[in-house]
Amino acid sequence: MIIGIDLGTTNSLVSYFKDGKPTLIPNALGSVLTPSVVSVDNDGKILVGQPAKDRLISHPTATASTFKRFMGSQKIYTLTAGKHTQKFSPEELSALILKSLKQDAIAHLGQEVSDVVITVPAYFNDHQRESTKTSATLAGLNVVRLINEPTAASMAYGLHEYDSDDERKFLVLDLGGGTFDVTLLELFAGVMEVKASAGDNLLGGEDFTEVIIKDFIRHHENQGTPSHFWQAHHAMLYDESERAKRMLSDHDTAQIHLSIDNKVYDYTLNSDDFEELCQPLFAKITAPIEQAVRDAELKVRDLDAIVLVGGSTRMPLFKKMIAKLLGRFPTATLNPDEAIAIGASIQAGLIAEDNALDELVLTDVSPYSLGVETSIQVNEHERRAGIFSPIIERNTIIPTSRVENFSPVHNDQTEVRFGIYQGEARLVKDNILLGELTVKVPKEYQGKATQLSIDVRFSYDVNGLLEVDIDAGGKQHNLTIENGAKRLTEKELQASKDKLSALKIHPRDTIESRALIARAERLYSQRLGHDREEIGRLLAWFENVLDGQDSEKIRHSQVKFGEFLDNIENRDDWR
Ligand code: AMP
Repeated sequence: MIIGIDLGTTNSLVSYFKDGKPTLIPNALGSVLTPSVVSVDNDGKILVGQPAKDRLISHPTATASTFKRFMGSQKIYTLTAGKHTQKFSPEELSALILKSLKQDAIAHLGQEVSDVVITVPAYFNDHQRESTKTSATLAGLNVVRLINEPTAASMAYGLHEYDSDDERKFLVLDLGGGTFDVTLLELFAGVMEVKASAGDNLLGGEDFTEVIIKDFIRHHENQGTPSHFWQAHHAMLYDESERAKRMLSDHDTAQIHLSIDNKVYDYTLNSDDFEELCQPLFAKITAPIEQAVRDAELKVRDLDAIVLVGGSTRMPLFKKMIAKLLGRFPTATLNPDEAIAIGASIQAGLIAEDNALDELVLTDVSPYSLGVETSIQVNEHERRAGIFSPIIERNTIIPTSRVENFSPVHNDQTEVRFGIYQGEARLVKDNILLGELTVKVPKEYQGKATQLSIDVRFSYDVNGLLEVDIDAGGKQHNLTIENGAKRLTEKELQASKDKLSALKIHPRDTIESRALIARAERLYSQRLGHDREEIGRLLAWFENVLDGQDSEKIRHSQVKFGEFLDNIENRDDWR
């Protein structure tokens, strides 16, 4: 069985394809959404998912979230709880999410699983894709395919429609927590063809939440609270701003009400003002849509449907903005939380040659251009370096392999260095450096290096990973890219694996209790006075029941404690 995983910025999901249909797998708490959050508790044990998410508020320094944004970077998260301090890379934190999803799949399917299709943002570069594979390795999973998230979402949509013999063109807009992806997909007689894909991997729902946070801080700064005051209360403010943002998806106004050190900080925002504040983000949304439609050599009027995916497309202001931009309302909406994971399992079914999918063919494209640094002759005596020379242009159907020929520029050159870049800018300094390759000029060309012909071949596989081969004067160079992604050595990989295996992770059967405790602690930190006393008292009672280890009593208390917390949480007595 190959499972499909949507490793999301905010939530992650796992699914599988069986009996002709995709199915989502629930976690230990019965939800198909597992928050992509990791926390260390005071005993040094690891919590993943909902209980960790609750600890973002009550124990911010012990908890990490949105680490997907830093995959492939050098960032290190230091999580501190009580006497315990643990350091993690974004790859290790993602591995803990993957491990947890793997456990859920094993529990649900009743069999061991190791093969997996994982979705990544189309705009993930080579480093970030390699990092995702590293995370899977650390979690004991074997990646059979990395698939672009918007392509996965498109497959989920296409599967509904694929019996149709009419040619259909869809524009899929996926605005998630941290990324915006645009895909133009054509569907005809079972063939799903990605025509173009574009996006912005630094734009997502988080930026809309940030707009509210900034406005809240500005508002209170005008009332005399310095902006740095909020640094210490950021998690709380973030949570409330996120809530307000979601509220504005269904209501005209939203309020924030924070009580800190016996002082109350109120704030109200209406949807028109929110829309106004979000104007700078709209400009960022337009660019990739225009690019995808242009790259596919189509016009907006040629599209049969505009499909929305990703939690942030729930915002009415997003739909309004799209309608204004494209002259029509989005025609279809997929369950924004589930579409990508469903697509991942369809891809898993395709790889496993599931009979139900035997007439389905999918082709994808490379979402960005890849090339090398070259120089150009600007006049008789002068060359200008730093020019980007694309070898594979964006939106080329993958897998693909292209070769370009280069020669050294000076006869006395003894080596040629190739900087490998990803991006669309004319100058390499404005693109992303993926790594470098250096080729020695062979002896027979010494002193006449310019006569040397160097073939540089770029192969881009179905996972969106790049391989570079160089042929210099008949000598093959099977070089590995240097200074590129922080690729772990076997030794480092093993050390990281050992570190993760040594971690004490709360077992699945205790998650429900852990989640209740984390939720109670969050509410404790958010409330004051009588509520706080009551939460503290019941929390102590519940912990006492857990210590008793009487499973019948524990189950009963879980229900009671859960109801008590629901009651506290849903009480709307401050408005
Ligand atoms: P995803 O990565 O698709 O799970 O998207 C998560 C993003 O969707 C987060 O930034 C959420 O804040 C956002 N989101 C989820 N539900 C809503 C909603 N009702 N209104 C506005 N944004 C939402």
